[in-house]
Amino acid sequence: MIKAKEIFGDTQIHRKIIEPHRTLEISQNDFPFGISIWGSNSALLWTSSKSEEYGIHVHAYAENNIHPTIDETYDKVIIDGILLDVEMVRIYIVQNSLPYLKGRIKVLKCSKCGNNHFDINQNSYTPHIEHYCENCGEIFKTHMKTIGNPMDKVIAELHKFTTLSLNHSDITDYYPGLEGR
Ligand SMILES: [Zn+2]
Repeated sequence: MIKAKEIFGDTQIHRKIIEPHRTLEISQNDFPFGISIWGSNSALLWTSSKSEEYGIHVHAYAENNIHPTIDETYDKVIIDGILLDVEMVRIYIVQNSLPYLKGRIKVLKCSKCGNNHFDINQNSYTPHIEHYCENCGEIFKTHMKTIGNPMDKVIAELHKFTTLSLNHSDITDYYPGLEGR
């Protein structure tokens, strides 16, 4: 839990974070060897004196699957017309690396206004029954303790634009030490 709290930024440590002010707009068709995205969740691992860039890190492979054609951090990423929310991606990637959250991350819709529910802050790493809708103020309940993140729906939408299979690579491939045991 402490690790999770640190990853989600609930710590006393303040670090200079730079917004890269870069926009990427691409089509999956142009990258037949695939695209990887992950959040710049480097709070635990940032040891360089270089300031951390806040955003979505993208590897996109046009020529082969070894050397990415695009290897950069962006604060705005649009793939096949679908805008990716930076916080949603960042939080989703970490949520999927934490074993105690397995099966708890759900696509939830507010029962009153139908808005896609996105849990942030403490709610993003603590499964819960009562969900407060930021859009209309409704409190709706889920049968089991869950966390709302619409990212699975976004990924399903993105998947319509490619014949490549979805590979949920673990964040620990990139950031060893986040296993969360
Ligand atoms: Zn609502």
